[in-house]
Amino acid sequence: MNKFMDVAIDLSDDNFDKNYGGPFGACIVKDGEIIGKGINRVIKDNDPTAHAEVVAIRNACKKINSHDLSGCEIYTSCYPCPMCLSAIIWSNIKKVYYANTKEDAANIGFRDDFIYEYIEELSNDKEDKRVLNLKSMNREEAIEVFKRYEEDKDKIVYWGDNMIEIKNVTKKYGDKVALNDVSFTVPDGEIFAFIGHNGAGKTTLIKAIVGIHDFDNGEILINGKSIKENPVSCKSEIAFVPDNPELYENMKAIDFIDFICDMYEVSAEVRDKNIKRYAKLFEIENNLNDPISSMSHGMKQKIALISALAHDPKVLIMDEPFVGLDPKAVFDVKEVMNEMVKEGKIIFFSTHILDVAEKLCSKVAIIKNGKLVKTGSMKAIKGDKSLEKVFLELEG
Ligand SMILES: [Zn+2]
Repeated sequence: MNKFMDVAIDLSDDNFDKNYGGPFGACIVKDGEIIGKGINRVIKDNDPTAHAEVVAIRNACKKINSHDLSGCEIYTSCYPCPMCLSAIIWSNIKKVYYANTKEDAANIGFRDDFIYEYIEELSNDKEDKRVLNLKSMNREEAIEVFKRYEEDKDKIVYWGDNMIEIKNVTKKYGDKVALNDVSFTVPDGEIFAFIGHNGAGKTTLIKAIVGIHDFDNGEILINGKSIKENPVSCKSEIAFVPDNPELYENMKAIDFIDFICDMYEVSAEVRDKNIKRYAKLFEIENNLNDPISSMSHGMKQKIALISALAHDPKVLIMDEPFVGLDPKAVFDVKEVMNEMVKEGKIIFFSTHILDVAEKLCSKVAIIKNGKLVKTGSMKAIKGDKSLEKVFLELEG
């Protein structure tokens, strides 16, 4: 029996005696400690939203003084209802343990299935108006606020984790301003394209993010930690593939990959699995014992990628990853990106190949002369146009 689930079930049991609401209990755990408990308080508080999970979230957030429960787990005595599932997702909790099932809840009169059905119908453009009647009005007025919000550089984006936060970063080379007050965030689970002309500042910013180049003003946070103050801890979450991978030419490919794995302290098991997987994918299983000096640019790029991926990075940052790769390898790299994102990881890469960015990426930032000119979802930025058209208009 799990001790945290025990707590959740005990809470549900207590609530049966107290009768503050339905017999439900939940607790939220961070680093092996309970940071918030909740029981259903709908009747006691005259609050139809006071389900056990929501109450536990409110208590946990109060306790840690944050809206963000990233890294927490929730234990609940019963499968969460749609409202609670949404609340859990909004709070950035990524793991839910439940005891009683949906069916168990339905058997004692707590039925959620009509809500799920209603939501599903909505996504098919139908709706059961007996459940809810949704009507749109006055959008022209309301949208103005959204426009201001979209343009607000200082907003705190609170949905999802922001793995990379770039805040007012400025970098000068002598009199030349290479990065001019650049701010944007890269959330979890996105493929993020960073586009701009050569010399616009892409490589400079990427090298600042990965801690190779210093910057004059501003802050870059990786998973909430400053790259300036915690470079080692930040770098342990990142893999970086530069545009022109400079590998140790006199090493054999496999020795180089092992060397990188040693630095990241990758276990033999994990590295073996990942090296096999990616060498097979990139079709260079038979070249791993070749000296790097004998390899083409494309091959070196593949070796750099394998050594980057072998330690299962949370964030993969690449500078022009598709340059010098043959079409098959481009396809394979795209596949790897899509797989990583499904696992909640992040891909951030610079490119000037706009149709690849358009097809592959959910988010985009456009930089021009060291200044960020646009950032947001790919859909919002390009609208009905092609990314190339939008980009050329911005440049024009
Ligand atoms: Zn609920």
